[in-house]
Amino acid sequence: MMLAASGFPNIIIPRRKEKLGVALVGLGNYATNWLAPGLEKTEHCELRGIVTGTPSKIPVWQEKYGIPDRNVYNYENMHEVANNDDIDIIYSVTPPGLHARDSIAGAEAGKHVWCEKPMAPTLEECQAIIDAAGKNGVQLTIGYRMQHEPNTQTIINYGSEETFGAITEVRTAAGYRAQGLPEDDWRFSLDMGGGALYDMGVYPINAARYSTGKKALAVSGIQSVEREEMFREVDETTVFDIEFNDGTIAKCKTSMGENVNYLEVDCEEGWYYLRPASSYSGVGGEVSDGTVLEPDPGHQQARQMDNDALAIKENKPPIVPGEDGMEDIRIVKGVMESSRRGGARVEL
Ligand code: NDP
Repeated sequence: MMLAASGFPNIIIPRRKEKLGVALVGLGNYATNWLAPGLEKTEHCELRGIVTGTPSKIPVWQEKYGIPDRNVYNYENMHEVANNDDIDIIYSVTPPGLHARDSIAGAEAGKHVWCEKPMAPTLEECQAIIDAAGKNGVQLTIGYRMQHEPNTQTIINYGSEETFGAITEVRTAAGYRAQGLPEDDWRFSLDMGGGALYDMGVYPINAARYSTGKKALAVSGIQSVEREEMFREVDETTVFDIEFNDGTIAKCKTSMGENVNYLEVDCEEGWYYLRPASSYSGVGGEVSDGTVLEPDPGHQQARQMDNDALAIKENKPPIVPGEDGMEDIRIVKGVMESSRRGGARVEL
């Protein structure tokens, strides 16, 4: 045996897999412009594979990210990833109506699953994803990047520690003015998980839940459409309240007709806000004690994926488990029912 200069035996430790391999499923706007660039900045995971239904995207991605032929799949053969040790994680970035298909395929192949928000259009699909991950002993996390963002985490701590006393009211909104989308875009399809409430409403829903840390008991809300030629089967705007188990009310709004983006929290002994609260950058705000929450310059998606990869490596629970995504869909369903009943209070 060789001795190192220290006098101790020079033991060769087999190289551990330092970075986990991610396969992005669905190479649309978010995967192309945010997740793939984010995966160039991550420390604990990297882009190793793609799953796509569009053959013309394959050479572009292979060349840009050095992806070998053996790591390229389509939706029909993606189950074969089970035999591919390069890939540790399947990240579903398809429209929400397809998340269950991709996530279950990934879990059944023995891969950890990252699933974009909103988790899936139905509670049955959400449960099926959770069950598939549980049965196959893989981690499941939902792509709620805000829960990884430093100023948001400060606000989550203010709530859990009651830094400014008990929370008395939350007001939160997320929305943008949709324009120029093709008529057949999934964002206008109810089955695909489109509409303001599914696609953007999960931001205020999740924000109301993470800022209070409480369980939602009841909801009420009204869904509306102004541009009927665009929004034929889904809502353009939804205004809703969430009632929590301690009596706190969150007043929420989501829209595909209006730019809105904030999280405001009132407490017995102070207040704080984030404005914007869910943008890719610039998330910052103020606190009643004079603290300024300066925006963090980091790459949100890279931070989220690194945290989630680290949870897998260290075998710790992820920051955003599947149950978190499903709880938001339970609230979405309650708000939809309330709107159908003219804004009546619906117990969850
Ligand atoms: P896009 O419409 O830009 O891309 C979706 C991709 O999914 C398509 O390009 C396509 O990729 C694939 N796909 C497979 N089947 C279909 C189908 N039937 N119809 C349409 N696309 C299909 O959507 P986004 O990238 O904006 O959004 C994808 C997911 O990411 C959604 O769940 C969305 O809510 C979420 N998202 C999350 C964000 C966040 O901040 N966490 C921000 C933006 C989006 P291919 O051609 O490769 O098969």
